[in-house]
Amino acid sequence: MERHQRITKEEMYMRMAIILSARSTCQRIGSDGQVKRVGCVITNSDLSNILSVGYNGNAAGLPDECTDPNMPGNCGCLHAEENAISKCRSHERDKIMFTTDSPCPRCAKFIINNGFSKVYFLREYRDATGLDLLRQVGIETSPIELTKNSILNRMFTDIQGWQP
Ligand SMILES: [Zn+2]
Ligand SMILES: [Zn+2]
Repeated sequence: MERHQRITKEEMYMRMAIILSARSTCQRIGSDGQVKRVGCVITNSDLSNILSVGYNGNAAGLPDECTDPNMPGNCGCLHAEENAISKCRSHERDKIMFTTDSPCPRCAKFIINNGFSKVYFLREYRDATGLDLLRQVGIETSPIELTKNSILNRMFTDIQGWQP
């Protein structure tokens, strides 16, 4: 029997961030022509626990829609990183963030002020300034390579015996 090739913790948390992005109700179309649904997972420094999760959307209790879906970066939705950080009850240092899209400059500053050591991302945001800000203060940034096929194929086949 073929030995199960288990995924890394980094890939596991990024997949969770992808699943979280499906909860987003933001309508804004990004520069790539796709709706910007962003998911975010915050873990502790050794990747053993999830400390918070988030996705982009309007504030809790307000209508599930953007204020203005045509304003790039300013549609009125809270960003996934803002939501995850504001819900995070842990103040430990060296937290790690997994976000489907690299942070905008404003979220990067929020990350800087909230005790992070590393940020993993899947897609690079149209404005790379956020990543530059993180690097300037010594926060590591790292893309995670996940092809569409590897996500879709392995997301389901990894659960042995379960057919979607
Ligand atoms: Zn929005
Ligand atoms: Zn942001």
